[in-house]
Amino acid sequence: MSDLVTIAGGGLAGLSLAAGLRLRGIGVTVHEAGSYPRHRVCGEFISGVERATLDGLGIAQDLADALELKSLMWFREGRTIHEGVLPEAAMGISRYRLDRRLKERVVEMGGMVVERSRQVREKSEGLVWAAGRVPRRGSWVGLKAHFHGMSMKADLEMHLGANGYAGLAQVEEGRVNVCGLFRVDRSQAGRGSDLLDGYLRAGGNGVLADRLREATVDAESFCAVAGFEMGRQEVGEGLCVIGDAESMIPPFTGNGMSMAFQAAEVALGPLERWSSGGLAWDGCVAEIREGLRRRFRRRLVAAQTMHPVLLRRGGRDVIESIAAAGLLPFRPLLSLVR
Ligand SMILES: Cc1cc2nc3c(=O)[nH]c(=O)nc-3n(C[C@H](O)[C@H](O)[C@H](O)COP(=O)(O)OP(=O)(O)OC[C@H]3O[C@@H](n4cnc5c(N)ncnc54)[C@H](O)[C@@H]3O)c2cc1C
Repeated sequence: MSDLVTIAGGGLAGLSLAAGLRLRGIGVTVHEAGSYPRHRVCGEFISGVERATLDGLGIAQDLADALELKSLMWFREGRTIHEGVLPEAAMGISRYRLDRRLKERVVEMGGMVVERSRQVREKSEGLVWAAGRVPRRGSWVGLKAHFHGMSMKADLEMHLGANGYAGLAQVEEGRVNVCGLFRVDRSQAGRGSDLLDGYLRAGGNGVLADRLREATVDAESFCAVAGFEMGRQEVGEGLCVIGDAESMIPPFTGNGMSMAFQAAEVALGPLERWSSGGLAWDGCVAEIREGLRRRFRRRLVAAQTMHPVLLRRGGRDVIESIAAAGLLPFRPLLSLVR
């Protein structure tokens, strides 16, 4: 039996697992289809991960200078519907910076990271599949870009629209990350940030689109993703899978990155026992699956239930009127998706 773990996918789940394995002296190679640094479609705020998880993975220092984001505002088509403060500050850091840092951390710890190396999805002893969302026909498009010179109304802004939602989060160097999830609309023909502008206006978020027009976009940072569905992903028989490749929580929760770290944490123990010969590979895979199921089941069900409410006009009406009466149970709802 080889004692070397191979990880397919150098996103947050794959790289943080690699760092955690190196911390325990276990040999690891990460194969990443792309290269670093690169922008990714992501809201870029991390919420709900405990310091102990980051310490256990050996990556806490890589997040030490992330911005502390506490205040938040929700808008619906330009109108303020909720203002509040997060119980625990979220962390604002770009994926451009974070993924590169984690890759460097893994290498510094003695792991190997092979860039531009696309792996084939197949069951193999020692292989952990952390390659993100499973491509399939889907009804969503995710768009993101960084803007300079934007004045924020709160550390985090969430803008609900008729076709989806967009989140704004401050990240490093005075940048604001704007990231939206929208129902695919083939009539939107713009390119780059014009496409984001088109989707925002089509959803009734012209006020936000006008604010973005007054700021300066970093055109290089624009990216888009389509062809995915949220929730549990298709996991092949006997394959060891973590992160978005296993299940994707709807982005409004701002919890997917934390789940990537937590999934790596869940996988560490079984992989450590497998690498020392104390557990067969099939048992290791089964333990990881069960660990992920137990850790994430409740929040996935809660998020999958809330997500359609945000996307239905009637649902948004209810949220707006409850919020107007000052009765939006924001903290209890947040705790359900953590
Ligand atoms: C619109 C949107 C907004 C979001 N906003 C937030 C937010 O604000 N906060 C938050 O916490 N989460 C957010 N998320 C979720 C978050 O981005 C993901 O949950 C997180 O990136 C999952 O990490 P991962 O490592 O599993 O997957 P990824 O980060 O997707 O990494 C997978 C990696 O695998 C590589 N890869 C793919 N195929 C192969 C292959 N065959 N071989 C080798 N490598 C491969 C990819 O290039 C990629 O680098 C958002 C997601 C979307 C879509």
